[in-house]
Order: sequence, then structure tokens, then C-alpha cells
Amino acid sequence: MPRFLSDVQRYFSQQQDLFGNIIYDEKKSDRAQNKPEGSDYPDEPWVRSESMEALRKEICGCLKCPLGHSRINFVFGDGNPHADVMFIGEAPGADEDAQGLPFVGRAGQLLTKIIEAVGMKRDDVYICNILKCRPPNNRRPTPSESEECTPYLNKQIELVKPKFIICLGLTSAQWLLKTTASLGMLRGKIHDYRGSRLIVTYHPAALLRNPEWKKPTWEDMKMFKSAYESPKGAM
Ligand code: URA
Repeated sequence: MPRFLSDVQRYFSQQQDLFGNIIYDEKKSDRAQNKPEGSDYPDEPWVRSESMEALRKEICGCLKCPLGHSRINFVFGDGNPHADVMFIGEAPGADEDAQGLPFVGRAGQLLTKIIEAVGMKRDDVYICNILKCRPPNNRRPTPSESEECTPYLNKQIELVKPKFIICLGLTSAQWLLKTTASLGMLRGKIHDYRGSRLIVTYHPAALLRNPEWKKPTWEDMKMFKSAYESPKGAM
């Protein structure tokens, strides 16, 4: 489909509420993304990728949204492609854009410590983001950027088949769980996302600004560890 036509369709799939927030019509958006009825994925060759490396090669030149034109590097994801645990952040920042790897800046160094605190190594887990390209000035992803990029993330989840997904921060949690609930309401529970058990915690960048949130983050990680180590978690 010509890019221009799909851009127009995407524009008309968005409406605004009284406060200027974008309301998303998923059905219209599916048509704009060329998703066949009943399918989660657009009808595109990358959908048939059978490994993470094959998927990366297929999608790393993506230009579906304007962020593809401003990025330095496509930040696909990193880590063990057969991990039990997948950490999902929001979008690459400047360091990630420069290196093409997720969570490599200060927030990433703190994430490494959080992973190690539960007895794992960074290489044991898989780390990625909702968006694969850096939004300008690190602004939050727009619904249409997230909508375009989420099928890639869903395909990564399908390939990794993680037992647990840990959402880093409210943006990724609200987007995946399709909710406007607060972080306080989402933490401390085990949710489901496409067959994986999903836990929500603070974003490491927020912990750098608010060190008092490190304690509740540790509570979240202890909840994850005990669920992971329970007989059901190991399934
Ligand atoms: N923040 C994120 O959400 N993701 C990164 O990769 C880096 C910072």
C-alpha cells in the first residue's frame, strides 16, 4: 500500500477527547496498518521470521513512522532470545540511539543492578522497548508510534516466549495492558500479556530522579523472584 494512503488512513483513525487526548479506534487502526481481519499482524514478510536475528534483519530498516527518519540506529532489543524474563521499557534515549542497544545509559546501568539483585545476569534476560526508534527530546511515544511498533514487540514476545514480562514504568504498562490505571494500582499484581505473566515496576530513569522509589522497586522484584521460583512460575 502506498505510504501516503496509509498515513491518511492513520490520521483518520485518531480522534481527540475534550481534553485533547488522542482516542484510538483499534479497528480503524488495524485497517490503516494493513492487518487482515482477525490477525494481530500486518500482512508483511517479517511476520514469518523464525528467529530473532531473522526478525531484526527484516525490520531494522523500518520507516513506518517519522521516528525512522530521525533515528541514528534502530534499537531492536538485546539479550537471551530464549529468556524466561523479558524487560520492556518505553523507547530508546540518546545513548541507546547512538549505540543501537536498549538500556545502555545511566538508567540501563541501574537496570543491570536490578537484574543482578535477583540473582540473574543481564545476558540471561531479554531487554527491549515498546518503540524501536528514539522519539525527539525523549518525549513519550505517541499512540500512533506505539501502534505501529507494537506488532514488532508482539513478534519478539512470540519468539522469546518469556514466562515473565517486567514492564519498566507506567508508559509501557498502560500501553500493553490497555489501561489508564495508575502505577500504584498496577504494581503488586500479576497480570497476563499474551500468555506471559506481567509485572509492573518503576522505570529505572524514574529511580535515578526519585531514589526513595528504589525500596518499592525491590518489593516488586522480590514478588517477581518468588513467583518465578514457585512451581507455577517455573512452568
Ligand atoms: N529508557 C527506556 O525506556 N528505554 C531505553 O532503552 C532507555 C531508556
